[in-house]
Parts: sequence; C-alpha cells; structure tokens
Amino acid sequence: MLHTCLHGTKEGIKRMKILVVGGGGREHAIVKKLKESPLCTELWAAPGNGGIACDAKCKNISATDIEAQVAFAKEEGFDYVVVAPDDPLALGLVDRLAEAGIPAFGPSAAAARIEASKVFSKDLMKKYGIPTAKYEVFTEADAAMAYIKAEGSYPVVIKADGLALGKGVLICGNEAEAETALHEMIDEKKFGASGTRVVVEEFLTGPEVSVLAFADGKTLKPMASSMDHKRALDGDQGLNTGGMGTIAPNPCYTAEVAEECAKQIFEPTMKAMQAEGCPFKGCLMITPKGPRVIEYNCRFGDPETQVVLPLLESDLLKVMLACTSGTLADTEVKFKNESAACVILASGGYPEHYEKGKEITGLVNGQVPGSDVVVYHAGTAEKDGKLVTSGGRVLGVSATAPTLEKALEKAYAASEQIHFDKLHKRADIGRRALNALKGE
Ligand code: AMP
Repeated sequence: MLHTCLHGTKEGIKRMKILVVGGGGREHAIVKKLKESPLCTELWAAPGNGGIACDAKCKNISATDIEAQVAFAKEEGFDYVVVAPDDPLALGLVDRLAEAGIPAFGPSAAAARIEASKVFSKDLMKKYGIPTAKYEVFTEADAAMAYIKAEGSYPVVIKADGLALGKGVLICGNEAEAETALHEMIDEKKFGASGTRVVVEEFLTGPEVSVLAFADGKTLKPMASSMDHKRALDGDQGLNTGGMGTIAPNPCYTAEVAEECAKQIFEPTMKAMQAEGCPFKGCLMITPKGPRVIEYNCRFGDPETQVVLPLLESDLLKVMLACTSGTLADTEVKFKNESAACVILASGGYPEHYEKGKEITGLVNGQVPGSDVVVYHAGTAEKDGKLVTSGGRVLGVSATAPTLEKALEKAYAASEQIHFDKLHKRADIGRRALNALKGE
C-alpha cells in the first residue's frame, strides 16, 4: 500500500495527509521538517501544542490514548502516521495502526522493548556480543545488595527495568546510597511496575554521544551525532532534566569512533533485532561511551532532534517512508556540513516544582521576528489569544551555522529576545564541545 502512495499514478506522485503523534519540542522539529516535503499536502499533530499549531492542525488527543489515536487516524483518513514519543510506541500504536491499514513510522511494540525494557536491551547486548557496561538483573533488594558488595566498586548504577520518565537511573556513590535506591525501587515501588526488576551495572566514564539513526529492519543509516546537556545548572550541576540544550555534530564522535560504532554496535544491533523476530524500523538512538552502549532509545531523542533535523538535507518524509517500506538502502540520507545548537528555555524550578501560565513575549507567530533561528515549542499553550508557558521545558531556540561557535552565538542572541517570568536557561551549552574542538 505504501508503494502505491509513493509511486503514484499517471498524474504524478500522490501527495499525503500526515499525522504526527506527540506534543513537545521534538514533535515540533519533526513537523517543521515534514512541512518542507513536497509529498506532504496536509499536516496534523495530536495533541500538538501552542507553537506546533502555527505549523500544523492540532487535535487534543493524549499521545498515550491508543484507542482514540487509532480512531482519529481512521476518521481523518491519514496516509501516514509518525509516532514520536516512547510511551505510545511501547503501547503498540504502530501495530494497531498497521491492523487498521495505516502505515506508520516507528517500531512495533516488540521492537520498542529495546527502550521500554532495560533487561531486554541488556540481555540482547550480552547475547549478541554488543559492548556495554557489565551488569546483572535482580528482583530482590538483598540479592542485588550482595552482588554490589561482592563487586565492591563505586559509583554503581541502578536502573529500573521499565520506562520511568527518564528518572529510573540512579548513580549511587556508596553502599548506603545503593541500599536506599534498591529499597525505594523494589520494596517501595517508587517507579511502579517499572522497578519490579532492576539492572545493576558498572559505572562507565568518558564522553557520551547521542547517535540517532534511521532503520528499516535491515539497514541502519546514522544521522549527525549530537551532545545533550542533562543537568539543570551550568557546569553540569543540579538535577537531571529531560535536556537543557544540545549541539550537533558532537566533536567527540570522530570518523574513527563512528566506524568502530558501525561495526561493533549498529550493524550487530540490527542483526540481533532481526534474529529475535522483532526487526527494528523507525528511529533508533544509541548512546555510546567508550564506545559501549549506555542505552537505546526507540525514537527521536528530545532535544537531540532539535539540532539533528535542521541539519538534514534529504526529504524527511521520503526517508521515513523508506524505513517503513524496507527500502532505506536505496534512499539517500544526507546531512549539511554545518553545526547546530539548541538552547532550552525552561520554567524556573524545573525539573521539580514550577509554575505554568506565564505570558511569553518576544515571539510573532511563535518565532523571533527578523531572525533565521527556529524556535521549537515544547511546553506552550494559547490562552485568551496569548502564548503562555504550559510545561517545564518551554521553548528550544535552535540555530545552524558553518561553525559551532556561530550557531551558539545565534541561538543565545535570539534567546535574549524571548521573555517570561522565571525563565531559566543554561549559559554554557556547547562549552565542553567548543573546548574539545580547541583540543582542551
Ligand atoms: P539511561 O536512561 O540508561 O540513558 O541513563 C540516563 C543517563 O544516566 C545516561 O545518559 C548517562 O549519563 C547515565 N548513565 C546510565 N548508565 C550509566 C553507566 N553505566 N555509567 C555511567 N553513567 C550512566
């Protein structure tokens, strides 16, 4: 069916009505890129947000309401659906859409286990010899503690098996911290069913890289590498967040490291998923350190997408369709030889307590006037004709330029034009990468 859409009729290529599931900065970046495709006639997002509404029609359906998403896709007659967040993928939205005859971008629920279950991904890596941190799986705190004591190496990393909104990874500096973490996860069920099983693993050191890749079940094509800044405060201090800014490409990801990752990680991962009967189609994000795999994500990362997609030269929709139809090997995936930087503007107090509903000023139609910088909306809403904050991460100000230094300058200059009460941003996004480029 997908081929019919692509090859079109005598009149030419059939154009497509597309739905993007999700409503954050990542989805805004996907929507903006899809809009550039000549194949895309009509674009929707569900639920979308206040800024996405400037680029696509929005329908307020929760991304995890699988029944309602499928019903909406059928009702509107979408030709193709892009499922962006991890939860609906793990809940089987792509499988449900396929049953309804609607092709979609993203892995099946079985393949999404590569992110949704740390035990699945660690066991996969062990079975197929993919380099990763040494680990064991436990269901009881006592047994886990006995293993940690026998290993006697700190810090030790304790991970809840399931999805836990990015909060299920605890790095414990000593025995007492490890005891508390295990007790909270297993006995007190702090992360609900996600923590019924835990992975205890060795702490890895070294630079961390995010590599997003398109995958069609057989072939994997990596995108530009990127670097996230997870901590809330400058100098990598404060609490872990969803990400306070990103840069691409990541200077630590040299051609040699990329080649090593291709041979030792990317190709074996694709083969392993095929061998397990759940070929991976969609966007795979791999975070190596060493290079050893820290984690897999089964979808575009947020805010990595906000620096990687602006550098994509090829037609995103064509590449996505190739992932779904298994023709990625014959499809060009090309990136600009430039750099990108994204600075996140967050609500003061994030990732803990913060207020919503603050008026955002400095934007016209969601963008900074007179600037070629792109503002991706993560947590914004429209209220009484005004744009207001509606989440922890509010906006991502993203710029591309011939050098990383220039991209950062542009992103920071544009971010100075945007205001809301208690706005918080890091002042040092990209500093580590700039130092690495200078050889420091
Ligand atoms: P994950 O959800 O597995 O990616 O973990 C979240 C973050 O915790 C990663 O991006 C790393 O910064 C850190 N982390 C996870 N596992 C390890 C490890 N074994 N050693 C060091 N840091 C880790």
